[in-house]
Amino acid sequence: MTGVRIGLDVGGSKTDAVAVAAGGSILARRRSATERGDVGVVDSIVAAVEAVSTRAGSLSITSIGIGIPGQTDGRTVRHAVNLDVRELRLADAVEARCGVPVAVENDVKAAALGAHALAPVAGPLALLNLGTGIAAGVVVDGRLWRGAGGAAGEIGHVPIDPAGPVCACGQTGCIEALAGGRALAARWARPGAFPVRDLLDAADEGHPLALRLRADFVRGAAAAIRLLALAVDPRRIVLAGGLAALGDRVADIVSEELRRSSAASGFLRSLHLGERIEVLPAGSPAAALGASLIDAPVPV
Ligand SMILES: [Zn+2]
Repeated sequence: MTGVRIGLDVGGSKTDAVAVAAGGSILARRRSATERGDVGVVDSIVAAVEAVSTRAGSLSITSIGIGIPGQTDGRTVRHAVNLDVRELRLADAVEARCGVPVAVENDVKAAALGAHALAPVAGPLALLNLGTGIAAGVVVDGRLWRGAGGAAGEIGHVPIDPAGPVCACGQTGCIEALAGGRALAARWARPGAFPVRDLLDAADEGHPLALRLRADFVRGAAAAIRLLALAVDPRRIVLAGGLAALGDRVADIVSEELRRSSAASGFLRSLHLGERIEVLPAGSPAAALGASLIDAPVPV
């Protein structure tokens, strides 16, 4: 049967929905505000599904895939702090309203699958999310690497600095405590809609605290890239998330840190890390597209 898959990337402020044809092309896309709380999240998803399926025309919907922050087991989402959701049986709730099978996946893992679908590679691809938190998704030969319990890729909670800040997870000096947007904004402690952009501006002007925080950010991001390179050896490392959306400005300082930290190591230089990094373009549909492909066979 020919039908469309719906994929949604449910973010703290926006929900991005796509309708995807059997061949993988995007037939329709809609971005809308996300409402918070259990009821708000489900209502936002159902409204987005209805809108995007109307735009896709008369083709029937065969499945819905949802990428969402937090921990997931394919059906339930837990600890989606940015959405005010503690535990929600999301697949059950959306299936009851929409009448088609629903799969739920962590948003970073879904984005990795989507980045692979947009530009397939044989072997491993990693997507490193530099956002409010730090995490990676790994796709191997077109399939998500979830690990035994879904924790594969949660590299933001690898401690790299015993003298670093305490992390929300309870450890000290995690990559996320150094380089995560939420942690940076808390340490910068200035009001404003774009605290990380603000601190990068201040660092350019020589502000001492901003310079320290920028150094922590690049140190953490570079550590995450080295970790991915050595644990997974991906052909491509795609930088995504709110901090990566700052574009070349972030990519350039992270690449410079990788060069600096590799200077004394012929081994690290031989990995050509800088050549494997790319930034997911702003506005890319990767996360929603990947959500539509959860559990679907993906061409390599
Ligand atoms: Zn941590």
